[in-house]
Amino acid sequence: MASYINCSAGSTPFTYLGLPIGVPTSHASSWQPIVEKFDKRLSDWVARSISFGGRLTIIKSILSSIPLYYFSLFHAPAAILKVLESKRRKFFWGGSSNDNKINWIKWDQIILPYENEGLNVGSLFAKNISLLCKWWWRFKNEHNALWDWTRAPSGRALDELKELTNLISSVSISDHPDSWKFSLDASGIFTTSSLSNLINTLKYGVHSRNLLIPRNKYVPQRVFIFAWRVIQLKILVRSELDKKGLDLHTVLCPLCDHHIETIEHALINCPNVSSIWTQLLDWWNQNNATISDINGAFISDQGFSHNSVGSSLWQATKWIACYIIWKHRNLKVFSNKMWNPAMLLSEIQSQSFSWISNRSRKKNPIEWNQWLLNPSYYVASPPNRMGIG
Ligand SMILES: [Zn+2]
Repeated sequence: MASYINCSAGSTPFTYLGLPIGVPTSHASSWQPIVEKFDKRLSDWVARSISFGGRLTIIKSILSSIPLYYFSLFHAPAAILKVLESKRRKFFWGGSSNDNKINWIKWDQIILPYENEGLNVGSLFAKNISLLCKWWWRFKNEHNALWDWTRAPSGRALDELKELTNLISSVSISDHPDSWKFSLDASGIFTTSSLSNLINTLKYGVHSRNLLIPRNKYVPQRVFIFAWRVIQLKILVRSELDKKGLDLHTVLCPLCDHHIETIEHALINCPNVSSIWTQLLDWWNQNNATISDINGAFISDQGFSHNSVGSSLWQATKWIACYIIWKHRNLKVFSNKMWNPAMLLSEIQSQSFSWISNRSRKKNPIEWNQWLLNPSYYVASPPNRMGIG
């Protein structure tokens, strides 16, 4: 037979494209090459040398850097998925094993889609299932495809099929005469990402605390993650560390040494910080506005609700302000650097200029002098004046 179709006969098990063939893929050992690829890609030293944003990108793209056919053709054993997810989690939190003691935000939440208050990482489980379903979808829709070799599922495969059917029973896939319609995507076409999102949401739960922060294209990912952590009340102020049971010598604010350091106090209400907000509002010509809580600093688009570019620019500036305030709070606590509100404002102005102008249209760039003088100029005028957005 082998000579008839002009290829050499082999014996199983052997490896094809790095994948052991003929070894049952339900055995964890068949997945060892994948585990090794994760180790190589998610190394501790890489984790330590890049920001949260960079780590998030690598974690999300990990499957595209390894042979996808593993996940497209075989159902990964639960034990393997657990190992791989823990490698991603550890990498996300900075690689070093010391960080393992603090799981500030559950991995199950981080993998959720943005609209469910996650960071849209996506679980490997959901990815695996949706890639497998893609074959099934093609089978239903591409009659000429090579399907002769398919056979009815049995044994473990049948159990998995039952589990899957159960999990996605809320998806209606109607048996239209001509084609199958996929209800999760407006196009009616199957996409692995929409199925993945659904599986993640169903399996890992919907968080409904109404803590959705808007996406913002003017800030780098590390600022978005910071904003996301603030909204989840997961930055390491002393009151939160205390709640976690850490033994602290004080829970008072390191800046004023007078109030309990909550997140809201540290970023907004501390007397050493509120003066910065007054200046910031003044800089943006928002003299009648006040910012007194996390909602005001991170979610509300007060003053610009009629203008989407304006509200994004204003949000971005406020997030960057909080990011820089928090950075300097940490410099004071951990490196004993002096707290200097005047310097902080200029750092907020220059850093926001740099990040925002880099992410605006190049045709009509934001001018530094104008930004410094009155950034709301880029918001208030007619849209044809300014091409940013
Ligand atoms: Zn304080």
